[in-house]
Amino acid sequence: MRNIILFGAPGAGKGTQSAIIREKFDFAYISTGEILRAEIKAGTELGKQAEDLINKGELVSDEIIIGMIKSFIENNTTKDLLLDGFPRTVKQAEALDEILTSMQRGKAKVVELEVDKDVLMKRLLKRAEIEGRKDDNEETIRERFNQYDKKTAAVADYYKKKGDYIAIDGEHGTPQEISVKLIDILEKL
Ligand code: AMP
Repeated sequence: MRNIILFGAPGAGKGTQSAIIREKFDFAYISTGEILRAEIKAGTELGKQAEDLINKGELVSDEIIIGMIKSFIENNTTKDLLLDGFPRTVKQAEALDEILTSMQRGKAKVVELEVDKDVLMKRLLKRAEIEGRKDDNEETIRERFNQYDKKTAAVADYYKKKGDYIAIDGEHGTPQEISVKLIDILEKL
């Protein structure tokens, strides 16, 4: 069974590409960010814990996120996985490895969408106008980039060392054109 991590900085196009490739492949899909936003909207305890952190651009605790992913994987034992926005720390990546091993699911493979930071900022500010996400303002975006550099970039290195990492250009071309490259890779994984 495939365990695909769609990786990239905020605004790289993980959500957009996930939507396109899910029309082609039957993945069990999870976006940790989307779940957290739904929890906030529903006013749950988890949502209350996450809201301030998300609005500041900081990461939610590894414990909460790992618990969320563990139950998702346990509830989707028969399908290929598509993970969007997780793992974001090396601790989360290590926990994922343990879960996959214990469930005999094989390795995780990372596909990164590479996009220049200036382009990411422009995309996110444009998305703010369309979707109105509270964390898509310049100050919070800067903090999200900072968290990415400090904590998340190391996740790419973690998978590079294992030989389970591939990057594609997520900057040039339309979402459809980028998805063609992504689908080509996924067909070979
Ligand atoms: P996203 O929709 O992936 O951009 O995530 C929005 C926000 O949710 C992030 O800025 C974090 O505050 C939080 N978040 C989402 N996924 C994770 C994760 N794997 N670990 C920690 N925080 C997360």
